[in-house]
Amino acid sequence: MNAAVAPELPATTLDAAKVAQLAQLTEGLTPAELYWVAAWSAAKAAQAQRAGASARPAVGAEPSQRLTIVYGSQTGNAKRLAEQLARRSSDAGLPVRLLRADAYPQRELAQERYLAVVISTQGEGEPPDDARGFVEFIAGKRAPKLPSLQFGVLGLGDSSYPQFCAIGRQLDARLAELGGTRFASLGEADVDIETIATPWLDTALERAREGLKTATPVARVTPLHAVSKQAAHSREQPFAATVLANQRIVARDSERDVRHIELSLEGSGLHYQPGDALGVWPRNPPALVAQWLEALQLDGEREVAHQGRTLSLARWLGAEREITQLSRPFVKTLAELGKHADLLDLLRPEQSARLAALLTRDQPIDLLRRYPVRWQPEALLAALRPLTPRLYSIASSPKAVGEEVHLTVAVVDYEAHGSAHWGAASTFLAAADEDGRVPVFIESNERFRLPADPARDIIMIGPGTGVAPFRAFVQERQESGATGRNWLFFGNRHFAQDFLYQTEWQDALKRGALHRLDLAFSRDDVRDVARESALSKSPHTDVRDVARESALSKSPHTDVRDVARESHKIYVQDRLRENGAELYAWLEGGAHLYVCGDSAHMAKDVHAALIELAAAHGGLSPDDAKAWLDDLLQQGRYARDVY
Ligand code: NAP
Repeated sequence: MNAAVAPELPATTLDAAKVAQLAQLTEGLTPAELYWVAAWSAAKAAQAQRAGASARPAVGAEPSQRLTIVYGSQTGNAKRLAEQLARRSSDAGLPVRLLRADAYPQRELAQERYLAVVISTQGEGEPPDDARGFVEFIAGKRAPKLPSLQFGVLGLGDSSYPQFCAIGRQLDARLAELGGTRFASLGEADVDIETIATPWLDTALERAREGLKTATPVARVTPLHAVSKQAAHSREQPFAATVLANQRIVARDSERDVRHIELSLEGSGLHYQPGDALGVWPRNPPALVAQWLEALQLDGEREVAHQGRTLSLARWLGAEREITQLSRPFVKTLAELGKHADLLDLLRPEQSARLAALLTRDQPIDLLRRYPVRWQPEALLAALRPLTPRLYSIASSPKAVGEEVHLTVAVVDYEAHGSAHWGAASTFLAAADEDGRVPVFIESNERFRLPADPARDIIMIGPGTGVAPFRAFVQERQESGATGRNWLFFGNRHFAQDFLYQTEWQDALKRGALHRLDLAFSRDDVRDVARESALSKSPHTDVRDVARESALSKSPHTDVRDVARESHKIYVQDRLRENGAELYAWLEGGAHLYVCGDSAHMAKDVHAALIELAAAHGGLSPDDAKAWLDDLLQQGRYARDVY
């Protein structure tokens, strides 16, 4: 194993947070670049002394006098709320420091006096990737006693999952067990985050003000990473981006509709980096609103007052409420209103798995039809969550496309229970005409970044539309002249129909902007591919060849009959295993690894395959292989953009 070892640090007056910040900023720099940083710092210090300015480091507030805010965020919501709290605390004159959980210097926990944690829970009760170490440390034996700590935890989650806010709950209970006292009781925010988060933030701020106001006034503490200034456009004030292109990028006979969408950000003042996501505020499909009004037997023109606003019911349903995704609170209201015994039964804790299955499989319209109830419009609006924006990983680099942003969107449009079903944002985007407008904002994703050192190799695993950010990565590395190698694993259903951006990858291979491409088409009949391979002298060159080879090289002994006999689907993780030795060598050589796409199955299976290949090719025990991968995650060399 070849884990990067931090150099011995000279004695320093810097606090641990600043040391961590420096380590983070200089990660991946070459020796020449590090010498440059050293020379630059020395020149800056000399300049400050000459100007008579104090060159001594800003004195941080004592832990007893400051509010520390730590966040763990997968999709950016916890980060956004933590930043809000930091901004408001700072505006209120409180000394505050804001830290992403993986930058939190754990040995400072014992001295902490005011700590606010904002953290989400993923899937089946897991922490976000950036908070794994933090959560483990607090849960573990090394966590210090905290008799002087005042703390508050705001958990984020989705009540459709049985492990709703599990990580927030766990941290809240553990901090109390270690001796801490709550200055705000645990907040458990559901998908309609603001309903719980807004009052929680108000309380947390108020309590922190009370607690910290007796402290001696001190210079403000600079947050570890700057509390970002409000951009001109944000989630709350999106930019109306003009649609420049909206193209189907799968074959006409594909089972899916996948769009490549280009939007203009000109004049918005919005900036992004590869790895960031674009937030899109959708409108619900008008045909779905019509289905609702018919099922409810209500008039869409009827004016309805809700939470201080009066709009037509059609407008509420079309632009303001979540009507494509089921939620537990909606099922509960429907069950109670109609006294439906089977639905009420599903709400019992023992039935959480069945409820979760229902919430994933069905849409609200299915239940409205299955369980007819005479709804009052006001009660209906109260039972529905506010419409929330959807995040799409950006598929372009500004270095390549200027003031544009590109997306890769799989259109959710299917038949179920005898009627059409749609996804909100993908249908909205697919229907967007050129020159139409889409309300958008940038959601930055600091953990999903290209290596600072352009000489590092990168490995990208992105089946389906999960390939989106890797188009951005390859563009960026090409434009910036990065010298590291780029290896992409892509998978989709069919080679002929669903090979997203095929010609772009083909060109990138030719130009040397992509060095390796491994493909996994899960629903191609391997016998067809074999026959095609044997018969075809098609001059479609590289990528087709790569794809054929790829489909045929299921195992190192490439016998077509063996492959055809295998009944299981070929997925990207099969390609990882086949290329295990080389992949492990790349990683041991310092490569960064990225995974984007489905979190429920793919990301877990890929994770397991990575552990397997480390054990097989690194000679590690299963536990050591797991620790090796955790270590990559901690170092920020294994990043995931999955949901
Ligand atoms: P998809 O059709 O669901 O899947 C793409 C390929 O992955 C198919 O060949 C599929 O095979 C295969 N697959 C299924 N289960 C797998 C597993 N356990 N391991 C590995 N491969 C597996 O792809 P999609 O509709 O494009 O969606 C991709 C996912 O990415 C979605 O969950 C989306 O939310 C997420 N995502 C999208 C973006 C974005 O910006 N567009 C960003 C982040 C995440 P079979 O179907 O034949 O089994």
